[in-house]
Amino acid sequence: MGTAEGLEDRSLGRTTVLIGERGGRYPHGNSLLVVGSEETVIIDPSLGVIPRRDRLPPVDRVLNSHCHEDHIAGNHLFSHAPWHLHKLDLPGIRSLDDLMAIYGLPAPLDRAFRNVVREQFHFVPRPDPVALQDGEVLELGMSRIRVIHAPGHTRGHCFFHIEPDDVLFLGDVELSRFGPYYGDAWSSLEDFEVTLRLARGMRARFYATFHHVGLLEGRDTFLERLDRFAEVIAAREARLLEFLRAPRTLDEIAQHRFVYRPQDAVPIAEAVERRSMGQHLERLAREGRVREVDPGRFLAQPSAGRVGEARG
Ligand SMILES: [Zn+2]
Repeated sequence: MGTAEGLEDRSLGRTTVLIGERGGRYPHGNSLLVVGSEETVIIDPSLGVIPRRDRLPPVDRVLNSHCHEDHIAGNHLFSHAPWHLHKLDLPGIRSLDDLMAIYGLPAPLDRAFRNVVREQFHFVPRPDPVALQDGEVLELGMSRIRVIHAPGHTRGHCFFHIEPDDVLFLGDVELSRFGPYYGDAWSSLEDFEVTLRLARGMRARFYATFHHVGLLEGRDTFLERLDRFAEVIAAREARLLEFLRAPRTLDEIAQHRFVYRPQDAVPIAEAVERRSMGQHLERLAREGRVREVDPGRFLAQPSAGRVGEARG
């Protein structure tokens, strides 16, 4: 395949990584094309698939790792083919209202983002998507794709393992320095942590992510990136505990910023901070490491030993 549009393709055998603009940085992303002897599948068709459409082979199925705008931006090019998503993310592709429920944005942002999703990401609802299940294998002839449910980013987020090329597609477990994103209504910090442990035990020759990192070869390289990515969660929690050495509200936590940097002009930042750090706060409260000292105000608690000393 050529690269007439200046977009790079990386062939791994039957699998080709269609690298997105700017290395797949949001709103772009890296898609996979898997050509079997019987069927051809495209995984997470991004905005970068649109300029390539005339040189792609006929596509028989679309697989989406999850239902987020950037991962489904090229789905509309394949309206004749079935679209497969994990059963838990199916509602999002059936209607824009249900997609918006996955994000759970406050009203003014919700209104603005609906337009972005329709106009910049070409969202078209699909009444009859096909449900994927954990462990399911799609046989393409001389090639197959195994579905691995890996929730946390969304409820239905999945990895795909492609054989015989031995490629593990990690979707939005994207191994960036930003760290794990669990700031949507349908995200879960604790599910994400389980997924990171699952990823750590997986073996493949190639590891592909939708954003940033793109393609890694070799398990050592992958594990190093994965561990650095996972450590961001602990770092956010440690910074939160430090901030709670004075009593603070969730509003103050959201304004302080733990996920984004203060200088990042991201309209959804406050909503994402609130949801992400709210989950950390809940966990710390459950573990007795923070306490609600006044209604809505949380304070880090000294360790049990230090409480004993203080009273002793
Ligand atoms: Zn996503």
